[in-house]
Amino acid sequence: MDFELSPEQKEIQALTRDFVQAEIAPHAAAWDREHCFPRELFARLAELGLMGVCIPEEYGGAGADFLSYVLVLEELSRGDAGVGVTVAVHTSAVTLPLLRFGTDEQRTRFVPPLARGEHLGAFALTEAEAGSDAGALRTRAEPDGDGWRITGAKQWITNGRYAGTFLLFARTDPDAAGARGVSAFILDAADVQVTRDEEKLGLNSSVTNDIVIEDAYVDHDRLLHERNRGFRVAMQTLDGGRIGIAAQAVGIAQAAFEVARDYAKERRAFGRRIGEFQAIQHKLANMSMEIDAARLLVYRAAWLKQAERPHAEAGAKAKLFASEMARRQTAEAIQILGGYGYTKEFPVERYYRDAKITEIYEGTSEIQRLVIARSILGLQEHVVATRI
Ligand SMILES: Cc1cc2nc3c(=O)[nH]c(=O)nc-3n(C[C@H](O)[C@H](O)[C@H](O)COP(=O)(O)OP(=O)(O)OC[C@H]3O[C@@H](n4cnc5c(N)ncnc54)[C@H](O)[C@@H]3O)c2cc1C
Repeated sequence: MDFELSPEQKEIQALTRDFVQAEIAPHAAAWDREHCFPRELFARLAELGLMGVCIPEEYGGAGADFLSYVLVLEELSRGDAGVGVTVAVHTSAVTLPLLRFGTDEQRTRFVPPLARGEHLGAFALTEAEAGSDAGALRTRAEPDGDGWRITGAKQWITNGRYAGTFLLFARTDPDAAGARGVSAFILDAADVQVTRDEEKLGLNSSVTNDIVIEDAYVDHDRLLHERNRGFRVAMQTLDGGRIGIAAQAVGIAQAAFEVARDYAKERRAFGRRIGEFQAIQHKLANMSMEIDAARLLVYRAAWLKQAERPHAEAGAKAKLFASEMARRQTAEAIQILGGYGYTKEFPVERYYRDAKITEIYEGTSEIQRLVIARSILGLQEHVVATRI
């Protein structure tokens, strides 16, 4: 066992940290208020190789390992969780599945523009009546000549408004029950209409959209993986994606901890610094311990994925623990700052709002507990319909 990051991992971590400190963190409060970050940021992230960290160089990526990518997500989310999720969805939920499940032709055609950050990716699974129960989706794709006609509506699609490439799931067998008749498709922005920008509690700098697909024709080569086997693509994508969301949660909690610790060293009450009160010391000790524990779970899951070993259970544990930890500990950070914590003078109220989503997307906490329970009970074959 080796707890030391490799020189390359340290270098990517330091590069991202410096970039975040200089160009993201100082603007995060404004981007939260304005509900967007400037689009030029994509170009800056791409220049640094951060839009394709763990994609092989031959496909336009930086060629680093999965843990390096997780370190990048942690650092980005420490500065702005909206930027973190933008890169997480783009990479884990779109570029990596195209690389994994695509034919040689699909890989060569679709991956490099994503890995180089020329296109942004979006993952379109959720519908109004198909969230945790993603197998209930109703968007349909019907064979038409040499291709497919796709019609339907998706909801809460991160990056939707700015995406050039969509990984979209549609029903290809109307008679098959639930998850069994679903296929995955690669769509262009021109195939999709963005119909709404969601108003959210947090994560405001990232866009979350409703989209409609109206009788869009796509060629047969837009089918990813096998017909009616798309649910497998979705579930395996989320098994890895969750590790990224867990890293996002760790990054948010780390940011909150640093503000709370520094505040406790300065703020005075009853003639003392509040960090001298045991009640505050215990809060800081718990924060630090829980962040460490979450980070270790995240890094272990990333290591398992990199080693191509089973990582569904480890990823679900990392995501479940890290997200609940981030919600708890960002609330504690507000408590340490007292009234100031509740105001926009300090960023901890934003961290608290941002942390909450990590308990919901890429599988709610209830679904993570199901994944873990089924894995430890050996009930894998029944997992199918409830893994998102
Ligand atoms: C900001 C944001 C960004 C998102 N980005 C994307 C995206 O890019 N692409 C995409 O496809 N989706 C995206 N989503 C959707 C997200 O993945 C879903 O919201 C999530 O999977 C939960 O689905 P739901 O909201 O429909 O909740 P529901 O499935 O309706 O769940 C409601 C409640 O019931 C519980 N529940 C449901 N089923 C069970 C069960 N079997 N056992 C126990 N409890 C259960 C849930 O845990 C939850 O507490 C995003 C959502 C948000 C809010």
